[in-house]
Amino acid sequence: MKFTPHQINKSKQIALVAHDNKKTDLVEWALFNKENLRGHQIYATGTTGKLLEEKVGLQINKLKSGPLGGDQQIGSRISDGLIDVLIFFWDPLEPQPHDPDVKALLRIAVVWNIPIACNRSSADFIFSSHLMEENYIRLIPDYDNYTTRELS
Ligand code: PGA
Repeated sequence: MKFTPHQINKSKQIALVAHDNKKTDLVEWALFNKENLRGHQIYATGTTGKLLEEKVGLQINKLKSGPLGGDQQIGSRISDGLIDVLIFFWDPLEPQPHDPDVKALLRIAVVWNIPIACNRSSADFIFSSHLMEENYIRLIPDYDNYTTRELS
């Protein structure tokens, strides 16, 4: 398979999202990683971002609340190459009104080969990686065959 290299800088664009029952988890995780997070640009869905600003004191680029389009805004930024890491603590035990958006966000992150953490231990593994402190070449699958496919 062919790939297109995409440079990710040392200072990364990180998206943080948490469903309501997981927001406390994300706040605790962010408090623990506060100093590391400061070296990066943080994006978050509206309510998650507000909480992180209030409880952790981080500067956050706040998007719309998830159910009001925030998940899709993050997905759009991923497609445009503007998000490097997705930390998404979704709730496996509660139905969400915007479930299609949740699936779409997870899907688009895989399409563009973005590292994703869906729980605290995965987020710990990503954040303890030396790659967080270095430039990194993300390999984007070459979708030319798809975009130039013949349609009859
Ligand atoms: P919220 O959205 O941060 O605005 O609560 C999270 C989500 O995607 O459900």
